[in-house]
Amino acid sequence: MTERIFDIAVIGGGAAGLIAAGFAAEKGAETVLLERGASLGRKLLITGGGRCNITNNEPDIKRLAEVFGREGRFLYSAFSSFSPADTLKFFGDLGVKCVTEDAGRVFPDTDDAKTVLAALTTFVRFNGVKIWTDAEVRRLEIKDGLITGIVLENSIIRAKRVIVATGGLSYPATGSKGDGYKWAEKCGHSLAPLRPVLTPVKLKERWIADLEGLSLRDVSISAYSGKKTAEERGDLLFTKDGMTGPAVYNISRSISGQEHGMRLLLDMFPDESREELDKRLGKLFAANDKKMMKTVLGSVLPPKMLAVVMKLSALDGEIHGAKVSKAHRKVLVGMLKELETVIDSFHDFNKATVTAGGVNLKEVDPKTMRSKIIDNLYFAGEILNLDAPTGGYNLQMCWSTGALAGKAAATDSR
Ligand SMILES: Cc1cc2nc3c(=O)[nH]c(=O)nc-3n(C[C@H](O)[C@H](O)[C@H](O)COP(=O)(O)OP(=O)(O)OC[C@H]3O[C@@H](n4cnc5c(N)ncnc54)[C@H](O)[C@@H]3O)c2cc1C
Repeated sequence: MTERIFDIAVIGGGAAGLIAAGFAAEKGAETVLLERGASLGRKLLITGGGRCNITNNEPDIKRLAEVFGREGRFLYSAFSSFSPADTLKFFGDLGVKCVTEDAGRVFPDTDDAKTVLAALTTFVRFNGVKIWTDAEVRRLEIKDGLITGIVLENSIIRAKRVIVATGGLSYPATGSKGDGYKWAEKCGHSLAPLRPVLTPVKLKERWIADLEGLSLRDVSISAYSGKKTAEERGDLLFTKDGMTGPAVYNISRSISGQEHGMRLLLDMFPDESREELDKRLGKLFAANDKKMMKTVLGSVLPPKMLAVVMKLSALDGEIHGAKVSKAHRKVLVGMLKELETVIDSFHDFNKATVTAGGVNLKEVDPKTMRSKIIDNLYFAGEILNLDAPTGGYNLQMCWSTGALAGKAAATDSR
């Protein structure tokens, strides 16, 4: 076995590892970046449907942290030292121009995640990081409360400090297979339970297949298990056996793990109350009294949804507008405001955008990302017990925790 010595070893060449390695080297530390894949940033390349939603332009750090739920407080220091504005400046300085879209979502103006990865790779190379690809870390050697060796297939690396940025368990084909979780446990860390989140849902109803390919903008979905458990608003897309898209992804954060058999109600007109929608439909049928009910409804519903609504409501779509009664409208409003489905399950880690759970935050110093258990160990990115809805927040967390870990590990004077 060959042996190599570095100041800092960063394990994982994803978003968090790349930025951590670059900043560590910028501070003068001799840094090696170890990536099991043949290339860096494989997950980064598929983010945002290949466009990379690089951050969220939220200027208020407190609100940004709140998006991560109860665990968000941990991120105050990381977000203060590397905020979304810093992300924009960082990438801007590397030649990546960004565009802010709805809900603060920021994308590179090339609409191509490759631009982001190329910029990061330049940053890392420019600062002299040694990049080792095809370098799978097999295990960590631990002695007297320190990591003393990083074991690869044919070599051992000795590093003063080690940053673990191996990501979560989602999309394992990109290299994120959860190795870091096992090492963290061996080091004495505890893990918050790991769950696939931001993932499509499978529904029990067979009529869902009739809606395959239909996308709905800005609708609301609510999950019920006895009482309402969660509600999300956003776009969604029907698949052959369920639904996907931001609204579904975000509701998975609240209910994945307990979803089987839960009712999911779809509100296609969330800005109107039942009464308001009923009134609007009443006026519409009155104004089109000679047209068939299904023709009139076709002006407010896309064709695939119209067909499903007519089928499920068992109403005669061929009666004329003049004949549509209050009772008919009640049935229709029920369908449009509370189209009911039953959840079979969410998809597993193979299709989950992120992993919820991870290294317990109580065991990590939020000001440096250093382990409170192993003195020369740092964590960054998705391996930590942090996850947020869609919108660029998850990558911002990677930039912030990665930058902090890299700088802190390089300047730790103990
Ligand atoms: C389809 C999809 C779309 C997404 N879109 C967005 C988006 O637009 N915006 C957003 O904010 N977030 C998005 N996310 C989430 C975001 O991509 C992740 O939160 C982020 O990439 C996690 O970065 P990371 O560096 O922590 O881990 P990863 O990116 O998972 O990187 C970990 C790296 O460690 C390497 N590694 C693991 N084990 C070892 C080992 N033993 N030895 C050596 N190397 C190892 C892996 O090969 C991998 O390259 C998306 C996720 C997916 C799956």
